[in-house]
Amino acid sequence: MAANVNPPVVNLFNNIQIRAFAWMVVFTVIISNVAFGQSAHVNPWAATDVALLPPPASITQGVWLKGELHVHSRHSIESSNNSVAKIIAFCKAVGVDYVCITDHDNHVNGDVAHHTWADPEFKSDSVLLLYGAEWTTTRGHGNAFSARPYDHQKLYDVRDQRDIVIGAVKKQLGIHLSANHPSGKDHFGYSYDMVNSIEVWNSAIWANNANAIMIWDDMLSSGRKLTGRGGSDAHHGVPVNGEKPGKNTYQATANYVGTPTTWVFATSRTSQAVVDALTNGRVSVSANPYGPRVEFLADLDGDGKMDMMMGDNVKSTGKPVKFRVQLSGNTIPGATYTVKVVKNGDDFGTYTIDNKTAMVEFTDAPQVLNRAYYRVVVEGPQTPYPQVPGSMALSGNMVGLSNPIYFNFDPNF
Ligand SMILES: [Zn+2]
Ligand SMILES: [Zn+2]
Repeated sequence: MAANVNPPVVNLFNNIQIRAFAWMVVFTVIISNVAFGQSAHVNPWAATDVALLPPPASITQGVWLKGELHVHSRHSIESSNNSVAKIIAFCKAVGVDYVCITDHDNHVNGDVAHHTWADPEFKSDSVLLLYGAEWTTTRGHGNAFSARPYDHQKLYDVRDQRDIVIGAVKKQLGIHLSANHPSGKDHFGYSYDMVNSIEVWNSAIWANNANAIMIWDDMLSSGRKLTGRGGSDAHHGVPVNGEKPGKNTYQATANYVGTPTTWVFATSRTSQAVVDALTNGRVSVSANPYGPRVEFLADLDGDGKMDMMMGDNVKSTGKPVKFRVQLSGNTIPGATYTVKVVKNGDDFGTYTIDNKTAMVEFTDAPQVLNRAYYRVVVEGPQTPYPQVPGSMALSGNMVGLSNPIYFNFDPNF
């Protein structure tokens, strides 16, 4: 029988080296408190120099694609005369390159996969179809966008959970989440930390978007690199082949696919490239698919060549940067357009463009430290959109807007 089965006890506090180290730590703390005072405060979150940022992607190798990111088909119960085939055929007719049909998920208890996406009409040989739905919750609405089918049911199931739970599910699904019509009734009541974009232009009625723009500027100013996008939110189609008009049919010729149109600079003509461009912010929004596209560029190194565009984020050198606003496509002969530049949420300057040059340049030196962003809004006459003739009056003089060009935004934010 063993006399003692206990292992030898190592008493840490008898170890002379550890004791010496512990006393050293205590003395260091006391000495630093005496030297700097108890109240010395160090903000671990204070603005620091952003590390080297990757150079912007090519601004020429890619394709501009125009699309619709918020439209409801017959799978949303309050829609009328708006089959999936009708929406896709309309896209094709007006040259819309991509569309995301975003039916209300609550109308099918989250089972979008067996409704909108399983609809035999959900196919096209030319229009890129994104997979998505309108996440329709008590706390607000958001659109999910994806290049491929994903498990939307999971997003629906967590709609009443805390943001931390929802954010984890969103990340797991690998989707792009976008805040819809963020102010007013059905405002977006979730954290903007878990969304990639915000609907800054909902429907042809431009005047209703002032609060959305204000929220966007607030989020941008707080360091969130958040893409602004459009969406008609159309629910009603023009009745054809014996379809019966409804009480909302009047909307079909005033607000439909393309009012407004979201342009993306995609690396290729694929659904994934559309979603990526949307996430990266290489995006501008126009009142309709026939209107001019707003392009916002900058020349960083002063070599006279533009080397970055909206959505791109670079480290400021403190030297002056030349910015260029360009209208591409159908400008109206003889027309003058007004360009308003917004810097960090404030008016920076107003310029005019005529339809011949369709371009204006300005210069500013963003500061070396701290974030800065510039974005532009273009006003002027509407380019006619004969397929949705009532939309022009509703959009007023709002022609288009760009996403920001960013300086010193923390990519790890
Ligand atoms: Zn909604
Ligand atoms: Zn909607």
